[in-house]
Amino acid sequence: MRESDVTELIEKVKSYGRDVKIVAATKTRSAEEINRLKKFGITAMGENRVQELLAKYDGLDMPEIHFIGALQTNKVKYIADKVCMIQSVDRIELGREIEKRCAAINKVMDVLVEVNYGGEESKSGCRPSDCVALALGLANLPHLRVRGLMTVLPIGAPDEMYDGMKKLSDELKAQLPEAEYLSMGMSDDYERAIAHGANMIRPGTALFGAREYPAGRESK
Ligand SMILES: *Cc1c(COP(=O)(O)O)cnc(C)c1O
Repeated sequence: MRESDVTELIEKVKSYGRDVKIVAATKTRSAEEINRLKKFGITAMGENRVQELLAKYDGLDMPEIHFIGALQTNKVKYIADKVCMIQSVDRIELGREIEKRCAAINKVMDVLVEVNYGGEESKSGCRPSDCVALALGLANLPHLRVRGLMTVLPIGAPDEMYDGMKKLSDELKAQLPEAEYLSMGMSDDYERAIAHGANMIRPGTALFGAREYPAGRESK
């Protein structure tokens, strides 16, 4: 991690003059590396894999841990007590499992509905046309608090997709005021995402530098 990369990103985000929450995407990064973000005022992180989160959890000193990756229903029980937001809820069954596990520990979990706006087969997320109904269905579960939408847009996505997500986000917020977040934008497009209305971004590489994967493990 280069400190200048972190401060540069923070300055760029500030230059938009709006409240934009930075959630550092921390896959492949060590707890020590992640904890260093705190002194720059970045207090939220997002992990993609349950196993990886559990492996580094004890070393973490971050106020907010989000889950941002594809989540199998049978793994919710491992993270329910460890994360404050699950950004990747894309089906009601997953919501019901979060409800069950959070009810058991008396916790209300913040969630975002993940939207597969580009319709890519390889990506998780619900269909854009289903996301508002899904969000409202999830909002009926007493131990879930639906805070907005999340998306991973295709590389090189046209402006229309960014604007389409903003439109869905506004539509949902009109029915559910606490669904205030639109989590959109990663290292390569966070400025574009903010310009199009994102108020939560998930940069990884832009903060930490290029990822190195252990040999034999597929990058994602
Ligand atoms: C890896 C990842 C990111 C960050 O990607 P970068 O290109 O490193 O910024 C953001 N969101 C999700 C869901 C990711 O998996």
